[in-house]
Amino acid sequence: MPGQIRILGAGLSGLSCAINLAQKKIDVEVVERCGGVGAHIKPNQQRLRYAGENAGDYFNCLNLNPEGYESRVIPNFYLATRYRLLDVKTAHPALLVTRGGEKSLEYALYRQAIKLGVKFKFNHEKPAKLDVNATGAASGEISGAAYGETYAGADFPADHGFVMYDDRYSPRGWYLYITPHGEDEVEVINCVSQPHSKNVKKLYQKALREQPFIKKTLRGAEKTGSIAGVGHIGLPKKATVDGVLHVGEAAGFQDATRGYGMNYALESGKLAADCILGGRDYEKLWRQMFLPRMKRDFAKRFVTSIMGDRIIRFMLRRYRDADTIDFTSFNPQENFIGKLLTETFYRLEVVKKKATGYW
Ligand SMILES: Cc1cc2nc3c(=O)[nH]c(=O)nc-3n(C[C@H](O)[C@H](O)[C@H](O)COP(=O)(O)OP(=O)(O)OC[C@H]3O[C@@H](n4cnc5c(N)ncnc54)[C@H](O)[C@@H]3O)c2cc1C
Repeated sequence: MPGQIRILGAGLSGLSCAINLAQKKIDVEVVERCGGVGAHIKPNQQRLRYAGENAGDYFNCLNLNPEGYESRVIPNFYLATRYRLLDVKTAHPALLVTRGGEKSLEYALYRQAIKLGVKFKFNHEKPAKLDVNATGAASGEISGAAYGETYAGADFPADHGFVMYDDRYSPRGWYLYITPHGEDEVEVINCVSQPHSKNVKKLYQKALREQPFIKKTLRGAEKTGSIAGVGHIGLPKKATVDGVLHVGEAAGFQDATRGYGMNYALESGKLAADCILGGRDYEKLWRQMFLPRMKRDFAKRFVTSIMGDRIIRFMLRRYRDADTIDFTSFNPQENFIGKLLTETFYRLEVVKKKATGYW
């Protein structure tokens, strides 16, 4: 059994790794540069994508037992493009979990970690000896950025989300979304990829000035705060550098199309713990577990970055108000042609990244 394991970063990936190690009676220390868990980002809602029937089963598979975190299920969505606004139901309702602050998913995992005896050192950066790097987007190049604001008193239904694909505000297939937040608040967030990262706030403000649905939603509402964040998407040659296992966004494990990085973070944290405990090959296993999923994300990124919001309008062409949308049907088929297309577009995306410098 290994001696003390030091993890840098108390986000989702670091906590998942710490909990899985502590359950096997390993002495774990987590070093975090902020003053507490969940202090690295202002409270906001994030959609947890998970495999399986429900989030509880998913967390069980990862040996995680987060309790008391804030979440809500959203079955309906307004889907906007520059020409249409659809009010639809999703085949798989979205689970939104709070990130940041004491009601967050990471804070619930922190409570589990404390019960298991994990030690935390806050307001500290890199220790002399390090085993796992879980520092999130901070440690890599910036691949994308998000900026948003929260508003009280907005005219927005609590059982809906809003997602808009419009290149004028979120270029090349990224998106702007609205989710209900807290009692009577909404949060409005714009996401863009790296060449537009510097302009994310300007593009957000342009959408608020121009987009009819957003203008109507926020008419008379009062701004209560702002949120900003960045993302690191990578295709690491190696996720182990100088013996340090990189997990979550520190390794670049991120969804290149939609920015759904939480599942990669939670799963890679557990995988790293399993490898430390069992002496297994992290390099081989992350490729087996994540590369097929990442390839699909990169393939879709290639198509959306070339086609922009036109591809979304094309995909939505057959839907009408009150229809149910199964977003998984937008994934490439699992047949020979689907796999060939995924592999081809994935490779083209890698070439595009080498040529332009961004995903
Ligand atoms: C606005 C926004 C919306 C998002 N929405 C979604 C969504 O809807 N669905 C989804 O799945 N994902 C979403 N994501 C992405 C998701 O939040 C991340 O992919 C996920 O949190 C990555 O987890 P992580 O453990 O790698 O990093 P983090 O959770 O960011 O944790 C990193 C931790 O390391 C600490 N740290 C950094 N540097 C150091 C250092 N030098 N020393 C010590 N500690 C350090 C940080 O303070 C932080 O606590 C969103 C991201 C943003 C910014």
